[in-house]
Amino acid sequence: MKITAIRTHLLEHKLDTYFESASSGFSTRTHVLVEVETDVGITGWGECLGPARLNAAIVEGMAGHLIGQNPLETEKRWLETYHAFRDQGQRGLTITALSGIDIALWDIKGKAWGVPVSTLMGGRFRESIEAYATGGFRKDGLDRVTDLPAELARYKAEGFGAAKIKIGFDVDEDLEVIKRCRDAIGPDMKLMIDANHGFTVAEAIALGREAAQYGIGWFEEPVLPELLDGYVDVRRGQPIPVAGGETWHGSWGMKGPVEKRCIDILQPDICGTGGFTEAKRISDMCVLHGVRLVPHVWGTGVQLAASLQFLSALPPNPPRPEPLQPMLEFDQTEMPFRQTVLTSPLTHESGLVAVPDGPGLGIEINRDTLENYRP
Ligand code: CA
Repeated sequence: MKITAIRTHLLEHKLDTYFESASSGFSTRTHVLVEVETDVGITGWGECLGPARLNAAIVEGMAGHLIGQNPLETEKRWLETYHAFRDQGQRGLTITALSGIDIALWDIKGKAWGVPVSTLMGGRFRESIEAYATGGFRKDGLDRVTDLPAELARYKAEGFGAAKIKIGFDVDEDLEVIKRCRDAIGPDMKLMIDANHGFTVAEAIALGREAAQYGIGWFEEPVLPELLDGYVDVRRGQPIPVAGGETWHGSWGMKGPVEKRCIDILQPDICGTGGFTEAKRISDMCVLHGVRLVPHVWGTGVQLAASLQFLSALPPNPPRPEPLQPMLEFDQTEMPFRQTVLTSPLTHESGLVAVPDGPGLGIEINRDTLENYRP
């Protein structure tokens, strides 16, 4: 089998309401899908995390290294492409672009052999994944102290058993938001907080010590991702488990934080950390170091499907009769093409999302949506 073409598809939507985290604001949603064609009529799909147009340009730049090659040899394709860009691209866009290609190649491999990617990765440990609702951004024109608790109450009413909110704006206001969110959802629903690296080390420790009383599942990206010593200080200085990793790319990028014990929970993004090929290496690294893995997800239904396949194949760590389960990050913010890009949506039922069991990613692409949201 040979790769005959690699195409990118941009999807863009102007938001009704601007929203922001502590690190970035969103007035549009722009995402990029990668389509890989073969000479046997099988087509694979992937997605890249991050700046869509830049990812598309790099994917197109990588295509020359891949066309004419065998898509089933995913490890070879990954290493040859990475090595061609290694000297100027060990992190960032090289890895996010390569992620989209790698996911598409695994989709092809699954379709060629008639099995889902989760089976190719070693087997499905679970057929459905508990989803947590991601939202809780600061929205233009709204007071987050009252808006976020109302938003979380809606997630609870929709059946979610877990949700994550954005903090990192101001310690006192963040604590007020956290308290009110906990009051709004009651004691049983899981609640996580994400500072999007908005805090100093001292602020993160102060917030974590106070916020712990509200039963927080994890404290995500407390400080800048480059501050590995700061992560260690935050982890030691306050009681909430620390999570991070969406901006540490590839296994080389994860190695330092994991070995330094910066985090309790590592959050690689399948579409940002190098695709399935690299995510598998990272999952093995987590087992070796006793670190929990809960992937970051911020994309379309293609990314949701890739993440579900990966989540299904994550080994229980540690194995036990009722093992700790990974979770699916399920973005609930405005993105009209998230589900319509698929012919069958990936929805949750009482907070659980079934892992697609068709070959490859287990999805089909609705090409009308690609046309409708093409910028
Ligand atoms: Ca995050």
